[in-house]
Amino acid sequence: MKRIITILMLIIIILSMNACANKASPNDPIVQEISFAKNILIEGTKERVLERIKGAKENNEKVVVEATLAGVEGYYDLCLDNETAEIEWIIFRYNSDFDVQKAVKNINGYLGKYDEYDSEFECYTWDNEELELNISLYAEKGTWIYPNFEYKDALYERCLVNGHKNTKWSAWDTDYNNLVMVKEKLCLDCEQIIDKETVDVTDFIENDIFTIHAAGFADRFDKQSARLNGIEYYSESEYKNNDSFYDEDNTVFYRIQDKKNNYNEIGICSFNKTKGKLVARMDEYEENIISCINILISDYSEVTAVIYSSILAIDPNIEYSEAADVGQKIVDNIILGEIDESNFKGIDYNNINYVLYRDHEYYYLIIKPTEK
Ligand SMILES: [Zn+2]
Repeated sequence: MKRIITILMLIIIILSMNACANKASPNDPIVQEISFAKNILIEGTKERVLERIKGAKENNEKVVVEATLAGVEGYYDLCLDNETAEIEWIIFRYNSDFDVQKAVKNINGYLGKYDEYDSEFECYTWDNEELELNISLYAEKGTWIYPNFEYKDALYERCLVNGHKNTKWSAWDTDYNNLVMVKEKLCLDCEQIIDKETVDVTDFIENDIFTIHAAGFADRFDKQSARLNGIEYYSESEYKNNDSFYDEDNTVFYRIQDKKNNYNEIGICSFNKTKGKLVARMDEYEENIISCINILISDYSEVTAVIYSSILAIDPNIEYSEAADVGQKIVDNIILGEIDESNFKGIDYNNINYVLYRDHEYYYLIIKPTEK
């Protein structure tokens, strides 16, 4: 028994010694050459290769890098996708005749013994998982090197070593529900977000215009409505589908539905631009254009809830209890008769003006920045 264990251990030691002997050292030229080839693949595009690899040349639409591989002189011929200019694979072409057996032995020393030999084409293939490369050496023609990795992951690893060199700040984007403006610095190579700036949003008014866009208001309106007891509205965006997207008369409006009552429609919300025109469908996500929000309420029983939801949506600074007080004042000041300049005043709070009036069986809530 003891003897068997000793023999087994010996076999294990011999096997592991063999495995070590097959690996080339990191200083071995073949290791560096294949890593170099892999790095070219990771660069991904013609532009990046030309920019980052010294000695890369453009020859008749082809990118060529002079080099050696497995002890043979030659050049890398980069094969690009015509449309994206992404490098799909590279071919190492020999400058002159070379010793196939010596090259195979060299590559074996680094990648381990080849996985396949095709005698018809005199082709040796290594499919190396650790290195994430597929290498095919053709005795006559050259060595084909294919990536076997995710480009994005590889680019990220490369950025970790070299730093993110190709970066761009995004435009400011407002998160209306978390009341914060965000811009992000993106690495265009590995697509990681590497920096971020935020500014808190304290109100939605600037230069007598609402900064929030139509879609942002509708979304806040719905979310704020759910804070009220037993209420949850759903605003569905609508426009004339047959009209062109770019048609200024193709206006956007929202059908306000009562989610808790079979999505029964209780009102319609639309928006005016500064010159009085309604906000067009193409401007649904355009900030800084709304001068007035119009909400038609078709059911009297919904008037109070629509008003509270609107106040909470358009005034991020207001406390819930304040909104109830302001809402009550708006209801108390409803205009029931003829509207003229003298009575169209409504209630002002936090630089926002709210007017409620009735026209036949409909109620209208008009929200504007307070005129100064
Ligand atoms: Zn990066």
